[in-house]
Amino acid sequence: MQPADLSATDIVAAIRQGDLTAVQCVEAFLDRIARLDGSLNAFLHVDRDGALATAAAIDARRKAGRPLGALAGLPVAVKDALCTADLPTTCASRMLAGFRPPYDADTVVRLRAADAVIVGKTNMDEFAMGGSNENSAFGPVRNPWDPARAPGGSSGGSAACVAADMAPVAIGSDTGGSIRQPAGLCGITGLKPTYGRVSRRGLVAFASSLDQIGPMARSAADCALVLETIAGHDPGDSTSLADVVPRYTELLEQPLTGLRIGRVRDHYADGLDPEVRRGVDEAFAVFEAAGATVHDVELPHAKYGVATYYLIAPCEASSNLARYDGAHYGHRAKPGEGHRAESGGRRFESPLVEMYCRSRGEGFGPEVKRRIMLGTYALSAGYYDAYYAKALKVRRLIRQDYLDAFQKVDLIGGPVSATPAFRLGEKTGDPLAMYLVDLYTVATNLAGVGGISFPCGFTKGGLPIGFQLQGPALAEPLLLRAADRFQRLTEWHVRRPERIA
Ligand code: GLN
Repeated sequence: MQPADLSATDIVAAIRQGDLTAVQCVEAFLDRIARLDGSLNAFLHVDRDGALATAAAIDARRKAGRPLGALAGLPVAVKDALCTADLPTTCASRMLAGFRPPYDADTVVRLRAADAVIVGKTNMDEFAMGGSNENSAFGPVRNPWDPARAPGGSSGGSAACVAADMAPVAIGSDTGGSIRQPAGLCGITGLKPTYGRVSRRGLVAFASSLDQIGPMARSAADCALVLETIAGHDPGDSTSLADVVPRYTELLEQPLTGLRIGRVRDHYADGLDPEVRRGVDEAFAVFEAAGATVHDVELPHAKYGVATYYLIAPCEASSNLARYDGAHYGHRAKPGEGHRAESGGRRFESPLVEMYCRSRGEGFGPEVKRRIMLGTYALSAGYYDAYYAKALKVRRLIRQDYLDAFQKVDLIGGPVSATPAFRLGEKTGDPLAMYLVDLYTVATNLAGVGGISFPCGFTKGGLPIGFQLQGPALAEPLLLRAADRFQRLTEWHVRRPERIA
């Protein structure tokens, strides 16, 4: 039995029982990374030595009869947006090239405390801004189902590495869809928990009122296992929730009889790929066969979600990214020629201002600059009320839509993305087309609720189709139970890309 064929839950059990050592397990995944990642580019950094040393220490502890953590020996890949004290953390940006954080993100602290083994840091869109991974300063990730296509983003490295069995689970972050959309396009399961369920301490900030960390894995049951470890209150993040963390893995059994799932008519608008539509309809039928009932619901303001998100997220980003000025944080332009008061036809107020401008100019990629400019504009004195304040009001209406809908149904189902994975380069010249990819995912973050995406079929061309369930705040047990039940009744989540041996 190859470790890559086992679920995370089975890996943890096998190591605990002594059927598999942590070193054997970690080595098997590291070997796959060494073999496959040259072409997929899912990792920005692989910590072979560190991972093997941690695994050996776990095996020694087990041999000595000492207690082991809940995830002992489980290889985990971590999105490069999370700080790791011993590993580089770049957010896929030149701005942070070579940065080694002085501390671990809370999620990483919890993973290590549970004896998980961090195998490496995954590629992503720069500062998590993007939906295709093509905004990485270190090259795009390729979709394991078709290397000519994007894996989605921004957690595309995490999604691709799980889809190609280079790690059984990965950590992602989701500000407007970045866990759910790449999970959908890569045929894996990804959960964006309720805002605040997982601490954001040590997650490099993009849009702080929307950012949320979550698990990505091959199944809902494996997501439950990881969420159990990473969720919980953290005094270091005042927005993290104090509510008790349920034993998600123990709440999966109950059948779905009587569960009410909402279907949103607007999700079926033009632009929804017919094969995706078919997959989504079939998923609703599976839930009905499992005892759930399907009801039409309205989210009348969700159609303003993309416009609202692309004001609020850039506004927060422009503020969060102000710290990267070459002095406080980040890449600093080399002194020399350019540091004189005039350069490239532009006159700077002072060498200091020039240093700031050149550092930011060199450090940030084009999409990050676009977001900073959009956000700075929308927050500026003359436009604040027309754009930012207005967007906050619409956000409130979107949240109310969800509260109203969840009076009538327990969960809302639908597509994750309107199309299957698109070709690399297909949308890079058209930022608006790229933003529209987020149609079905951004409202979840604006409302602060949770969502899970998982495969519900494949196109004729062999690309995964994703299904999304959204739930009320703190409904993770229900989201995971519903997705797990679906996976007990279907086999889409066990399919593997053939091109990847
Ligand atoms: N695609 C969205 C964006 O570009 C979402 C990104 C995210 O969730 N981090 O902002």
